[in-house]
Amino acid sequence: MSISEEILKLIENGITEWDEIYTRLINNHKKNAVSMAKNRLIQQGKIKEETINGKKILSIQHENEELISDVDAYLFEHSQEIKEYFKLILHQNPDNRTFNIKEFILSFPHLAELSDIIKNNPFEARNILTNIYKETYEELFAEETNITHIFITNLLTSKKKLSEIGANDIGKLVEFECSIVQASKNKSRTTEAEYLCFECGTKRTVKLDFWEDPEKKKVSCPNCSNQRMTIDSKSRITFQELIVQQLEVSQDGKQHTASLFLEDSEPIYSGKLRVVAVPIEKYKKGTSVADIHLYAFGYEEIDNIDINITEDDIENIYKIAKDPEVIEKLANYMLRETKGMDEVKKAIFLQQVKGVEKGDKRRNLNILLITDPGVGKSTMMHQLKKLPNTKYATMSGASGAGLIGGINKEKTEFGESWVVKPGIYALADGGTVCLDEFTHNKEVMPYVHDAMESQMAKITKMQNNLELPARCATLAACNPKLGRYDSNLSVMEQVPIKPETLSRFDLIFPLRDVPDNENDKDILKFIIRSGNEKIKGTEKKIKINGVELSDELLIKYLHYVDENFKPTISDEAEELIIDYYLKMRELSKNGAITITTRQAESLIRLSEVVAKARLKNEVDTEDAREAIELMQFCLEQISYDPETGKIDIDKVYGIPKSKREKSEQVLKIIEDENKCKDIVSEEIIFERAEKEYNITIEEVERILEVLSIRGEIYSPKFGYWRTT
Ligand SMILES: [Zn+2]
Repeated sequence: MSISEEILKLIENGITEWDEIYTRLINNHKKNAVSMAKNRLIQQGKIKEETINGKKILSIQHENEELISDVDAYLFEHSQEIKEYFKLILHQNPDNRTFNIKEFILSFPHLAELSDIIKNNPFEARNILTNIYKETYEELFAEETNITHIFITNLLTSKKKLSEIGANDIGKLVEFECSIVQASKNKSRTTEAEYLCFECGTKRTVKLDFWEDPEKKKVSCPNCSNQRMTIDSKSRITFQELIVQQLEVSQDGKQHTASLFLEDSEPIYSGKLRVVAVPIEKYKKGTSVADIHLYAFGYEEIDNIDINITEDDIENIYKIAKDPEVIEKLANYMLRETKGMDEVKKAIFLQQVKGVEKGDKRRNLNILLITDPGVGKSTMMHQLKKLPNTKYATMSGASGAGLIGGINKEKTEFGESWVVKPGIYALADGGTVCLDEFTHNKEVMPYVHDAMESQMAKITKMQNNLELPARCATLAACNPKLGRYDSNLSVMEQVPIKPETLSRFDLIFPLRDVPDNENDKDILKFIIRSGNEKIKGTEKKIKINGVELSDELLIKYLHYVDENFKPTISDEAEELIIDYYLKMRELSKNGAITITTRQAESLIRLSEVVAKARLKNEVDTEDAREAIELMQFCLEQISYDPETGKIDIDKVYGIPKSKREKSEQVLKIIEDENKCKDIVSEEIIFERAEKEYNITIEEVERILEVLSIRGEIYSPKFGYWRTT
């Protein structure tokens, strides 16, 4: 007689308490074999197990006698292989409880059909696998594990987009990639409750479904006629409800979202995931229509979107990279709706290439565009949307929460709940944040500064401190305060950005809208022609070394370069970089602000991305020279002082030399007045400045502005100033 048959016989003879059956059978059989036989009988639907008065009671299930599941038969037939797999993963890490289907099939290729079996019967398969896992665990560590279930990942097949998951997938496993856009705080879910009968004292344990309220559930007493037992105790596990978003933008420009339920795992608040889940239904009250939600069986965090690069792609990438002007050409292709502005386009392309990771050091390039109205900064930014992980926001509509993240009370599938909403910086982790109207909102600026600096999005609210990874490049754009960029003035006089934030930008470009007949004609021609081509569908195909460019190939190029090249700096390139740095430092020697290693680090990052873009593992002199040229181009634009005819670093981060004297004089007037009065009115400052130093009102106004951005003076009341 088999163990199963012995168990059935004992139950038939009135011995229904599991402890007793177990004790009897382990005299003649191995302990594991006895537990497994019981589990198998339960899975087959031959017996039922219930906890009554704290004891496991077995009973024979007559109605289901015919039903022996294929899943169950298959998994038990191969339980040895499955055990072997669990032993392997538990040896490496005793906390691992993930059944990675792909990994399993690689070890046991003859069991490849397992993937489909699990996929089509997820809950049943997970229960059996969990039992086998628990047995394996007990054998290995001689103690029980109290996990509720194992995780399942890597389906091999059935990869879908979130938007493709529908009615046909209900109850079956699907795999998809997504990013988290909202996450509830950790909650508890009651999975099982023990009910007590007040009439006769019987206890009964019942499993609970997601949508069941344990307090309202009608549980009748198995022992007497009481139809309503009362809750005595509960078993809980952690539970989290996420809103996830499809990574790909759909044809209609929308990004599909869905709610995803996670059970029994560590809380997670941002990032990208590859999820294996079962679509489950929740019916709208009184209708036959149900919402589809996703119940996770397991997930892996992913860094990048799964970009599939073929051998052909690699061949094409190398062909493209051979072109000596590869950077210019790819930059032009990436930003093909913008005419001219070659240096800016080049810089933005290089920004997407990204520097080399070196411990804690920021590898992302930050770029600031100060543009005259109508120059097309927004068009430029919108063209980047085609790249993965790029997010666009305008500071005029942004809040700190929108950019960095926030914790709010929101309606969820399970009532109102505190939820974490990662902001743009966390959503763009690994990519680029485009911030339009950068100077529009002074309150938000410190958040941006912190994210740029720490590469983390720090959310602090209601005694919660969350740090979400935000390894992003920042492309910021703003209009100069006076309407048009004026090269006679310093950067700070025209854009109210604090020097510490300004210095986080590796490259600053003023983009001026200077009327120029030839150039204007070219631009207009370009706009008309590209419009015509779009209407006719005759857009020119652009080729590099015979390879036709596409957005897809561009994305692959950037991805391949980032995965495969980590250039170091050659001795010759090092010499060039140091030479240039020393020269700039010498130039800024007599200024209020000197070039520091921060600018040197920018130069190093820039050299690295140039080399990377050219598929090199070493920065050579050619790359270093190109980086220096780009930086020099920016510096000439922003720090050339027409009054002295020299490059003046103070024109970027402070007050140009030619004006420093005047601003010191204005500061002196305020200090002087403050000696007897707490605050000094603008009229007095204007009057004294004009009379004593011959400084015009207009100039004084600009000086006051700069002094206040620099934190040397502040205005406690409109029209009044005092020193800090
Ligand atoms: Zn009762």
